[in-house]
Amino acid sequence: MTTISEAKDEIVKTATLKECRHCAEKIKPTAKVCHYCSRVQAGFFRFSNYLRLFEGISLLVSFGLLFVAFSNLSSASEASSKAEEALKRVIETERRVLQAQCDVFDLAQNVVEITEVIPRTNAGAAFQGGNLSQEDRALLKKKTDSLKSKIGDFKKSEASKCP
Ligand SMILES: [Zn+2]
Repeated sequence: MTTISEAKDEIVKTATLKECRHCAEKIKPTAKVCHYCSRVQAGFFRFSNYLRLFEGISLLVSFGLLFVAFSNLSSASEASSKAEEALKRVIETERRVLQAQCDVFDLAQNVVEITEVIPRTNAGAAFQGGNLSQEDRALLKKKTDSLKSKIGDFKKSEASKCP
């Protein structure tokens, strides 16, 4: 007598069986040789195996390409970080140049102010008096005017960037 459990096992077994490629009898899905007609079920040279081999090779090639892409990506990001570093250095150098320029023009401004104040002091009486020759006075004025003009140009262009 068949128990319910045995009947269930039988149903499960039947449901998972496959058909023989040659005689169409139900055989186990893992069977290499048919139990009924003794013919081989799956050879290595079956078309589906070729397909599987092709899939495997495609997968390997894909992984290879992915690897190449990743190494390119990492060397690209390395190059980009080097470029970023170089850019930072350029920006820092520009900042220092500007700072130096600002310092020079600040100094020039002070020189001009001193030159203008001296004649108004007792010590500066020499400037106004006969001790300073006409040529020297003209030279002093020329130099001061040139400084003033350069300071004026700097104020129009770069001075707003000064820290
Ligand atoms: Zn068979």
